[in-house]
This record gives sequence, structure tokens and C-alpha cells, in this order.
Amino acid sequence: MQNLSNIGVIRELLSRHGFSFSKQLGQNFLVNPTVCPRMAGLSHAGPGVGMIEIGPGIGVLTRELSARADRVVAIELDERLLAVLGETLSGCQNVKVLHADALKVDFARLIREEFPPPLRVALAANLPYYITSPLIMKLLESRLPLEALTVMVQKEAAERLCAVPGSRAAGAVSLAVRYYSEPEILFGVSRGSFLPAPSVDSAVIRLNIRREPPILADEGALFATIRAAFSQRRKTLGNALGSGLRLEKAKIQEAMAACGIPLEARAESLTLEQFGALSDALRPLLS
Ligand code: SAM
Repeated sequence: MQNLSNIGVIRELLSRHGFSFSKQLGQNFLVNPTVCPRMAGLSHAGPGVGMIEIGPGIGVLTRELSARADRVVAIELDERLLAVLGETLSGCQNVKVLHADALKVDFARLIREEFPPPLRVALAANLPYYITSPLIMKLLESRLPLEALTVMVQKEAAERLCAVPGSRAAGAVSLAVRYYSEPEILFGVSRGSFLPAPSVDSAVIRLNIRREPPILADEGALFATIRAAFSQRRKTLGNALGSGLRLEKAKIQEAMAACGIPLEARAESLTLEQFGALSDALRPLLS
């Protein structure tokens, strides 16, 4: 088996297949040999588990998942990598490579068809940066029967996705992630771990999917309130909600007061529970 962390081996393999890196597709391949085994080891991959991988590249993480899990389905958009993967994964009988755009895949169907019970399912990926948030939100909002998403993302994205609601780093996406999962930053990965090296560092995070939401709330009202609250971060919460939800300021102030939220509060100071209470209070006013 070729050593897929050796830069000489990778260059020879890619040039033989006439491949050149696409910046647009976020193609930075891992060459630090410690990262993929560590990531796979923390990803829930194991006996009785099926793994979905997004963006296998040349298959360096895929091989680690294949060695641990019962079955791996890897989704790669770049057609040019299919022949490369055919070569690098030739010894991995439990891997299937799908040529598709992960943003367009019907994951509920994929899981039904590829991972029959009693297989448990989890996902691991070194994500192309341009699909990080839309893909993670798609996976979370679809309420898929997944145990965990273990993904490598840009360091700043990791901090935002895993930020604790009520802290300065929190944004609308932090609250959504926290609603659907229990997120944690596992370890950092320096830019020098990739070929070619990107201009920023990365981090591996794991989103442990919740079976039940942490608060009881009408999701439409909750996420409309969260989106409006963070849509104008410089404004106070009352003003941001007023313009975002097109409601009278007096009504919003009434609702905030009823929830014990100070009138001068800003979106990032609210916990998920406070957003739940506020969206409940505002719900009758939302059309
Ligand atoms: N897993 C490999 C590694 O760690 O070295 C490659 C990771 S590279 C950051 C991202 C991979 O995702 C590339 O192989 C790229 O072609 C693929 N990709 C980009 N956009 C995609 C999409 N929408 N759906 C599926 N794969 C995509």
C-alpha cells in the first residue's frame, strides 16, 4: 500500500493521473501522518458502525475509517479523483466511493440504502472550507440517524461552531449547532499539515448528535428569533429583533421584560434557554 502521507508518493500518484489541485474545491490534502489515525480514532468508527465520509481526496482518511468501521461510503465531487481513489483504495473491500456533490445528496436515503440496521452510522470529513456551514446545517437540520459528525474545519469556524451561547464568540450558527448537538473541539491542526498549505490553521471538532432537543420550543419561531437577533450584531437585541422580525419595539421590549432579559442586552449574551423563552413570548406576534 502506498504511503499517502508521503509528499513524494502523493506528487507521483497525482502527476501520473494528470491531477492538479483545485482551490475552488478546497483541495488541501492531509500529509501529517498523525492526523487521520487520531481523527478516525475519535470518530465513532468501529465494529458495527458505518461511516460516511465527505471529500475523500486521495483516500488518506478513508483508509483509516475503512480499517476501523464495518463499511464506509465516501462522497467525492471531483471526477478526476475517482481513478486515484480506485488505485489507493483497491485493498479496502468495505469502501464505496460515490461521485456526487455532498450539498445535493439525500443523506436519509443514502443511510437507508447503504447502512441497514443494526449498523450505527457516523460521519467524518476533512471538509472543503466553502461548504462547511451549509453542509453541517443540512446534516443537523435533516435529523439524520447519525451518532456524531467529526469534521476538520478552519480554526475560526471551529471556534464559532463550538462557541458556548452567551459568550462573545457565539453567533446564530453556534446556537443552531448547540440545539442539535453537543459540540467539542478535539484538537488543532496546523496549516503545515496540508499539501498545498492553506493560509489558516484548522481544528477537528466533533458534534455529538442529540436524540432530544435541549429545550422545548417551536423551531420556526426559535430560529427566526435567533436569525433576526444576530442579523445586526452592532444593534441591541431589541432593535435587531424589531427590524429583523418587523415588530414594534414596544412589543419586543414587553416580551424581553416578561422573560427577564435586560432591555440593553445583545444577541451574543443570551443562552439557548433565553432564546427559547423569548421566541415563545414573541411567537403569537409572528405571522
Ligand atoms: N479527505 C482528504 C484529505 O484529508 O486529505 C481531502 C480533503 S480536501 C480538504 C476536500 C475534498 O472535498 C477534496 O477532495 C474535494 O475535491 C472534495 N469536495 C469539494 N467539494 C465537495 C462537495 N461539494 N461534495 C463532495 N466533495 C467535495
